[in-house]
Amino acid sequence: MDTALCLAWFEEAARLVHRDRDRLTALDAAIGDGDHGANLDRGLTEVGKALAESPPGSPAETLLTVGTTLIRRVGGASGPLYGSLFRQMGRTLGSPATLAAFASAFDEGVVAVERLGKAALGDKTMIDALVPASRALSLAVRDGVGVLQAVEQAARAAQEGAEATIPMQARKGRASYLGERSIGHMDPGASSSALFMEALAAVVR
Ligand code: ADP
Ligand code: MG
Ligand code: MG
Repeated sequence: MDTALCLAWFEEAARLVHRDRDRLTALDAAIGDGDHGANLDRGLTEVGKALAESPPGSPAETLLTVGTTLIRRVGGASGPLYGSLFRQMGRTLGSPATLAAFASAFDEGVVAVERLGKAALGDKTMIDALVPASRALSLAVRDGVGVLQAVEQAARAAQEGAEATIPMQARKGRASYLGERSIGHMDPGASSSALFMEALAAVVR
């Protein structure tokens, strides 16, 4: 991955989140406080501004700016969590940013989210999309598949992971306050995580 591709990733993510803002907000209205679409849309707009103001010189720098901006600009649970994901990726991703390096940085990023949010698979959070995506990337690296196939498999895994949150009962975040009433709705953060992976596949394509 080079800097231009990394920048394109977050432009495309911003576009997809903006497009799906109302859908994400509706998901969060069902089991949270109805601000997830607005939170992320605003955050990614700020990310675009920050990246334009001080153009990064590497994928790692791009990820650090993305993460820092999300932590600063997004209130709510998802800002610090996504912020940690991308900041940890930025700290870990060396150069050259090969697929294997990217997969391992992504894995470290997901571990940072797990550490901060203390959520595990099955708790009905973004983790339920991020962990399958990370596993798909690692398997793709192990099997030596091409970059496009790897990110497409990751995007599919994230989307399936998001869909799998529908029958789950939330055990972390605001949705957990609803207890059994959280069952039957997709987790908004898992859905936005799937959008981040879809954006990556789209720009590699
Ligand atoms: P808030 O809940 O503060 O309004 P958002 O609506 O922006 O924040 O984000 C909600 C999403 O954050 C949830 O759908 C879930 O995916 C994610 N989330 C909340 N708490 C945690 C946690 N402890 N670990 C991982 N993800 C979490
Ligand atoms: Mg919310
Ligand atoms: Mg909120």
